[in-house]
Amino acid sequence: MLLLDGKIASQSVKQNLTEATKKLLEQGKRAPHLAAILTGNNGASETYVASKVKTCSEIGYKSTLIRLEETVEEQELLRKIIELNNDDSVDGILVQLPLPKHISEAKVINSINPDKDVDGFHPVSVGRMVQGLDTFIPATPYGIMLMLEHYNVETKGKHAVVIGRSNIVGRPMSILLSSNLPYGNCTVTICHSHTVNLKEITLQADIIIAALGRAEFVREDMVKEGATVIDVGITRVDDASAAKGYRIKGDVDFANVAKKASAISPVPGGVGPMTIAGLMKNTMDAYIRRNLSIE
Ligand code: NAD
Repeated sequence: MLLLDGKIASQSVKQNLTEATKKLLEQGKRAPHLAAILTGNNGASETYVASKVKTCSEIGYKSTLIRLEETVEEQELLRKIIELNNDDSVDGILVQLPLPKHISEAKVINSINPDKDVDGFHPVSVGRMVQGLDTFIPATPYGIMLMLEHYNVETKGKHAVVIGRSNIVGRPMSILLSSNLPYGNCTVTICHSHTVNLKEITLQADIIIAALGRAEFVREDMVKEGATVIDVGITRVDDASAAKGYRIKGDVDFANVAKKASAISPVPGGVGPMTIAGLMKNTMDAYIRRNLSIE
């Protein structure tokens, strides 16, 4: 069984970006700059943004963290985004989701300049991805593609089953895996909460992408012998014996599924670090497009 270790695979992506940033600085150019907006006090969002900012500094990028109150008005958030759109020193803009309930996510995503849309959620980015054009790919699916590449997982002609159809993971993942890409060309089935006989479908899968957000949902009896299993899920499960009072669980019952799988990603240490690697690659791409493409 091959462990699809996201810490190792992301390290190699980050190493390349660190070297590229160093070269830019040696040439007298500025470093790529990511601006992140964090709204409210959601504990998980705090953690994700903190690790994105930390990774920027490890690679040598500049980052700016903008914190807004939970009660911030939609107009104020939109104004902030427009300010960042117009700021030439900012290459990438990230608005950490979820947003407080009174703010429209669609409006916020639409307000980001597509040239700075390093999360790849803007309809222009999504449309370009669907058409196979150069674009920003949402960080988690991008990270998974980088993981498949790092471990050279054969995808061509394989049956991939994606569980979950969200705009940030499941749906873009299904598009990428079905695309004519080096780690694509799968036959893809996309499943969701209304799918009937899910187990019958997952048992046919050569590759399973579990992105539904239910702890240890994918069990051994749902997985074909020799399948590749990628676990996207992150769920906090209460555990009084843990220092923080909870443990992070994936969507896959790792201990038992690992006995059957030919390759499997763990949680934590799998897709999480790859997501950050995907975001960092998008930030460098945004920088190159905006600053170097006319040289
Ligand atoms: P979401 O809630 O937006 O979507 C979940 C999807 O799962 C929905 O499309 C729903 O139809 C489907 N689903 C729910 N129950 C199901 C069932 N019983 N059978 C089949 N399908 C079912 O979630 P999301 O934003 O796509 O995230 C999914 C999980 O991935 C969450 O645990 C989230 O925390 C995690 N996540 C991890 C990363 C990372 O970097 N590792 C990034 C994003 C999301």
